[in-house]
Amino acid sequence: MRNNSVVNHMIACNQCDSLLPKPILSEGQDALCGCCGAMLFSKKKDAINRTIAVAIAGLVLFFPAALLPIIGISAAGLFNDASLIDCITILINSKNYVIAFAVFMFTLAIPSVRLITALYISSCIKFNRVKPSLLVFFRSYHLLDTWSMVHVFFMGVIVSMYKLSSLADMTIDGGLFSLVLLLVCSTLVSVTMDEHSIWEELEKSLEQ
Ligand SMILES: [Zn+2]
Repeated sequence: MRNNSVVNHMIACNQCDSLLPKPILSEGQDALCGCCGAMLFSKKKDAINRTIAVAIAGLVLFFPAALLPIIGISAAGLFNDASLIDCITILINSKNYVIAFAVFMFTLAIPSVRLITALYISSCIKFNRVKPSLLVFFRSYHLLDTWSMVHVFFMGVIVSMYKLSSLADMTIDGGLFSLVLLLVCSTLVSVTMDEHSIWEELEKSLEQ
C-alpha cells in the first residue's frame, strides 16, 4: 500500500528510462520528460464526456450498419442489394466460415464491444462508481485495441468495390455509411479516451 502510493507519484520516461515525479496537469496540458523532452502523458480536454458521446453515437449506428443494405448491384436488368448480416449469412451458407467469422468480428463485434467497454468505463468514472472490477473491463479494452484492424479490412473492402464497379452498376446504400461511421466512432474513442487519467482513478480505488 505505502510502496504503491510512492510508485504512483512517479513516472518513467519511455524513451530514456528516467524516473521522474509525476506532475499534476490541467486539462489540455502535456507532461514532457525533463531529460530528453519526450512526451510522458497528456491530460485530455473533457475526455469523459467526449468518450461517452462518441461511444453512444457509435452504438446508435450498430443496427443500421448491420441491417441496412450496404451495396446494391444492377446487372443484366436485375437489381440486388445486401446488408452486412446478409453477406455474413451468404458466407456461412457457402461454408466460408473463417471469412464469415472474420467479417463479423472486425466489422461488428470488436468495434461494438470496444464502444460498450469505453462507455461503461467512462460512465462509471463520471458517476463516481469506480470499482476494482473496472480493471477487467479496461484490460479487455486494451486487448481489443490490439485487434481493431478495421483500417486494413476497409482497404480490402474499398479495393473490392472499385473492382466491382467496373463489372456492374453499383450503388452505395445507407448501411455502408452507417458502418463507416461506426468504425470511425470506434477509432475515435481511442483519441477521446484519457487512459492515463483512467489508470489514476483505478489506482486510487485500489488503494482504498
Ligand atoms: Zn526521457
